[in-house]
Amino acid sequence: MFFLICSMLLYFLPTILGRDKADLMGIFLVNLLLGWTVIGWFIALIWACSAERYVPVRAVPVSSGRFCSQCGTLSPYGGHFCAACGRAV
Ligand SMILES: [Zn+2]
Repeated sequence: MFFLICSMLLYFLPTILGRDKADLMGIFLVNLLLGWTVIGWFIALIWACSAERYVPVRAVPVSSGRFCSQCGTLSPYGGHFCAACGRAV
């Protein structure tokens, strides 16, 4: 039983490694259908290691404030002192 579980984990290692990739379904299908050929298993493994992670793009608000030269905190526009450390900006 332990050998069976270890074999299943080893067989689906490319899917496990690529579980947070954008093309997980393709990796899983290649792993499932072509994994029994050793070439298909290595293709799925290389695909899982090379496919880029899904990185959500976030909008960054544009501000017209000033950065503090002491601590780097962004102060709002028109402020004369840093809100974090109190130094003049
Ligand atoms: Zn500061």
